[in-house]
Amino acid sequence: MTAISHIPEIAQYIHGELVPGNSIRTQPVYNPATGQVTAEVRLGSAQDIASAVASAQAAFPKWADTPPIRRARVLFKFLELLNQHKETLAHMITAEHGKVFTDAMGEVARGIDIVEFACGIPQLLKGDFSDQVSTNLDNWTIRQPLGVVAGITPFNFPMMVPMWMFPVAIAAGNTFILKPSPTDPSASLFMAELLKQAGLPDGVFNVVQGDKEAVDALLAHPDVKAVSFVGSTPIANYIYETGARQGKRVQALGGAKNHMVVMPDADVDQVVDALVGAGYGSAGERCMAISVAVLVGDVADKVVPKLLQRTRDLKVLDGTNLDAEMGPIVTAAAHARICEYIESGVKDGAQLLADGRDFQGEQAGDGCEGGFWMGGTLFDHVTPDMRIYKEEIFGPVLACVRVPDFGTAVQLVNDHEFGNGVACFTRDGNVAREFSRRIQVGMVGINVPLPVPMAWHGFGGWKKSLFGDTHAYGEEGVRFYTKQKSVMQRWPESIAKGAEFAMPTSK
Ligand code: NAD
Repeated sequence: MTAISHIPEIAQYIHGELVPGNSIRTQPVYNPATGQVTAEVRLGSAQDIASAVASAQAAFPKWADTPPIRRARVLFKFLELLNQHKETLAHMITAEHGKVFTDAMGEVARGIDIVEFACGIPQLLKGDFSDQVSTNLDNWTIRQPLGVVAGITPFNFPMMVPMWMFPVAIAAGNTFILKPSPTDPSASLFMAELLKQAGLPDGVFNVVQGDKEAVDALLAHPDVKAVSFVGSTPIANYIYETGARQGKRVQALGGAKNHMVVMPDADVDQVVDALVGAGYGSAGERCMAISVAVLVGDVADKVVPKLLQRTRDLKVLDGTNLDAEMGPIVTAAAHARICEYIESGVKDGAQLLADGRDFQGEQAGDGCEGGFWMGGTLFDHVTPDMRIYKEEIFGPVLACVRVPDFGTAVQLVNDHEFGNGVACFTRDGNVAREFSRRIQVGMVGINVPLPVPMAWHGFGGWKKSLFGDTHAYGEEGVRFYTKQKSVMQRWPESIAKGAEFAMPTSK
């Protein structure tokens, strides 16, 4: 498909310039609230990737040699610019993703947190030092950047997820190629522009829009030393295996099915607030969204009626409306997939209490008739054999599973193939402690429904939610984007005469 002349085209950012690239393939970008095409994005080719890698490779030696404190100064300036432009970024996100403006502002704030963390890079890169490991011999370790590294990101956080990667990678002295989701590509180019204004040298940060063709070119390129990926599990698995086969360092964060265990002693109103916010916020299109409520003992009969009322009362509105609690679904294809899951839940015998398919675009505001709209869906009496329990739906569909006791709840969560986030609502400290110790999930919330770790703690799930050894950002991020070197040193005056043939030991 070629771009229609009156529709803006979104393309590549290579070596500090917006360039069309050489691909002729494009994809429409929609405003999900109205269903209108707002732009065409050029899907980068292998040659576009080659140009971006060449630029990043050329920029690497000088950037890697720039003292960390000077790299941090560029990030401090970037931080200032981000703070000045956070509303612009949030509007951009709402326009292409559909999430409500207040939520988009939250996304921007959480992205900014990572830049603040990365500004501390001189401290984070500080090595260790052992004086006199043997007579007149010292040993220390330093961490050095890898080279050109790449980030491949999903549609659901077009600003925050790239920010999990590039601020830390760049601060550590690497050069970076971002391959954002083609569904909502504008934020990536705006961030590139702000980085340039902040004084980042050309070539240190590049953006190539695109799909599988661009991703495969990144995975095959010998000069790309590491790949960070965030997206669905099948693609995460593919990226991990393919990247590792090519000798790259890979961290690949995948999909999720997050449970919230509700104990009988929990505060019911707090539970209901937590479930509607974490289940339907961002239309359930968050990898940390709660999609299963595990109701223990008799708490189900107290929670479900209130939850149903709140689901029906959800303010599903155009995301630019400041009263909106939930916006549209990102694309027509995602809408169709979610509807199909709802149908499968009904067929499998779950009790459909609220059916989001009944919601019409007209109810969301003027001009929304053609958008990808749906209300909140609530199922009760869901069982572990049903598809709506087993698979990631990634939409505003909440499944209630009733279990008799705490042990069964823990077993249920631990048996699930995903292990991204989990929450437990209780007033009992011992239950909370046992839960956080026994649960096989990477990120745990005790009376916190969305336990997204802060910038200095690192983000990552377990099981099929993460392929690789390190979490994103935080100190794990610094480790991922650097390699350790150990140096041993002594000086000629102190070297004893004569060759040594035994393994060196301390003398
Ligand atoms: P996706 O897997 O479809 O796409 C992610 C990225 O991979 C995009 O850049 C896309 O262009 C690229 N891609 C898609 N198909 C590809 C293919 N066949 N080969 C190579 N590259 C390909 O994911 P999405 O729909 O954009 O995002 C939603 C998914 O991301 C959900 O599964 C969600 O749980 C997950 N997610 C996970 C986390 C986490 O931290 N674990 C965070 C956010 C989103």
